[in-house]
Amino acid sequence: MQPIRIAIIGLGKIARDQHLPAIANNPNFALTATVSPRGAGIGGIPHYHELGTLLADGPAIDAVALCTPPQVRYRAAAEALAAGLHVFLEKPPGATLSEVEALIQQAEQAGVTLFASWHSRYAAGVAPARAWLAERRIQRVQITWREDVRVWHPGQAWIWEPGGLGVFDPGINALSIATHILPHPIFLQRATLTLPLNRAAPIAADLSFSDINATPISMDLDWRQTGPQTWDIVVETDAGICKLERGGAVLNLPDGTTQAGDSEYAGLYARFAQLVQSRQSDVDCAPFQLVADAFLRGHREWVEPFED
Ligand code: NAP
Repeated sequence: MQPIRIAIIGLGKIARDQHLPAIANNPNFALTATVSPRGAGIGGIPHYHELGTLLADGPAIDAVALCTPPQVRYRAAAEALAAGLHVFLEKPPGATLSEVEALIQQAEQAGVTLFASWHSRYAAGVAPARAWLAERRIQRVQITWREDVRVWHPGQAWIWEPGGLGVFDPGINALSIATHILPHPIFLQRATLTLPLNRAAPIAADLSFSDINATPISMDLDWRQTGPQTWDIVVETDAGICKLERGGAVLNLPDGTTQAGDSEYAGLYARFAQLVQSRQSDVDCAPFQLVADAFLRGHREWVEPFED
């Protein structure tokens, strides 16, 4: 197979940290161009300030990876699909659920691949946790996602704007794992969103979910944690405790089994290549729906202003 000629749109933190190395290490892809409105490109690769200019004047491409903030993702995705390109969406897949639905239809009509990626689902412990939990009765779930926003999102103004999700930007990663490993769909019961007085998005959230068996599922998100960071999911079952740590990278099972590794973006690009080859799409909005429900149903409380 010829390598898939891919352009990265939005050459920011995640593109540089993860997409560039994952593409470089996967022979099914050839990085062919980059786009970002203000930043510089990378040596030897044609760089454009707008996707439209790349499409009109640049080298031929087969696919784009959209690594922009979510608020501008729909427009770029629609433009790429209209040009007959396969589209890899960073998480979250958009700024609204309805725009993602529109993209699903557009991709279907164009006969190209739309991939809504959830990188945390490719963390090393997640697939074995899902397999182990499939045979267990779930009694309780505790999700704790506490990190320091100043370390992980310095100066990212978009993340605090409407559509930027605030603390749900990392929190949706936890939900992408939970909706993948738990054997039944989960739904929101209660939420409290804590917003700084000067920001449009929450800095913390306390949520309760449940499922068809009335399993209690709690989630504690906080961006004000300094010192050690916590990205844990603890699932109590009839056969003991399954614990995912470090965002799913480490799995501990009751028999002492552990798994660890760093496989997320290699796994995402392997999946994208497979989808493109088979002309299929993979768009699961379950994590995004739960976040939308929290914004729909949650109580708001306000705390002191936040400055970077
Ligand atoms: P970021 O560092 O702020 O980078 C965003 C990039 O998008 C910037 O390079 C910006 O370009 C570009 N951009 C903005 N508007 C654009 C447009 N209209 N067309 C093309 N490019 C545009 O953000 P990030 O941390 O990489 O996050 C981007 C996405 O990846 C978010 O959805 C986030 O949830 C997801 N993600 C982030 C991480 C992480 O660790 N940071 C991890 C996983 C997923 P200029 O610099 O030229 O303005």
